[in-house]
Amino acid sequence: MNEKTLFSKEKTLFHKEKSLFGKDKNPSNILPAKYTLESQIRFRCHPGVSCFTECCGNIKIVLTPYDILQMRKRLDMEAAEFLHVYTEPTYLEKTDFPGVMIKLTEEGRCPFIKSKTEGCRIYSDRPTACRYYPVGMANFHEGAQEGKTSEEFYFVVKEAHCKGFEEDKTWTIKEWREDQGVDLRDKMNKGWMELVMRRKSFGYQATLSEQAKRMFFMASTDLDQFRSFVFDSSFLQTYDVDQETLERIKEDEVELLLFSYKVLASMLFGTNDVRVKPDVLQAKVAAIKSDHEHTGKTMEERAEMDYKKIKQDWDKAKTAQPN
Ligand code: SF4
Ligand code: SF4
Repeated sequence: MNEKTLFSKEKTLFHKEKSLFGKDKNPSNILPAKYTLESQIRFRCHPGVSCFTECCGNIKIVLTPYDILQMRKRLDMEAAEFLHVYTEPTYLEKTDFPGVMIKLTEEGRCPFIKSKTEGCRIYSDRPTACRYYPVGMANFHEGAQEGKTSEEFYFVVKEAHCKGFEEDKTWTIKEWREDQGVDLRDKMNKGWMELVMRRKSFGYQATLSEQAKRMFFMASTDLDQFRSFVFDSSFLQTYDVDQETLERIKEDEVELLLFSYKVLASMLFGTNDVRVKPDVLQAKVAAIKSDHEHTGKTMEERAEMDYKKIKQDWDKAKTAQPN
């Protein structure tokens, strides 16, 4: 496997991908049908199938912030230790947002496989992507970003090696999702997935600074660091966070996680989920005004400078664009 660094181009050598939306990298494995919650599938996965744990190897499993939180709690590890031991960097859903995926063993197997007969050793806390398989959900955010009415439907990934489809058990998609605990994961991942999809819909037209990427990575992967960013930096002097929210995020890691999505939305996309304090904002506006006055540039000269800056960023982004 080629080495990957956090902000370099990704070279994926995986045969397949359990993506966050359950899409397989090879579309020919996706059955050509749209499924609803009431559609039925015949499927069962259990230690008795001859292919048991076969799908837990040679695969890219991207982790959401909630996955990381649940997995490291299960393993009783600090975020930094968990990231170091079990993950490696990747980019998320063809964006320049850095994230992490499970680091496979040298044999290309998931490190959480206990044995061929016992399966996953963190099964009740397994990642979202593992829960989706083999039922994926079509991404409704992509359409929504363009202001179109979007549609939500499901699809089934059927791979030749997966014998689960030969088993005598029928479910509706709704029952399958309930059994796999997907609804809770969707709820917990929603705000974060929206950030990723928003970034994806912007493409590379809007460049993201290295600082913004680091912020996204830190908040998405290391809740311990994010906590200290909120409580031990100048964050609370800059942002208006009410007392009730502060108490909630101090006590509850899930609340802190959900809060991190709002902070990221505000910082990266300028939403008003978390607002800058009015006096800080006024001081910033005054500083920008004074800066403009002091440079002594005309409107045309400033526009020219802005254009050159945008062009530079654009050229840089083009050369950094993954294949
Ligand atoms: S986390 Fe568990 S279910 Fe997911 S690939 Fe690894 S062993 Fe399989
Ligand atoms: S390949 Fe299919 S049946 Fe076999 S272990 Fe994976 S999901 Fe279960």
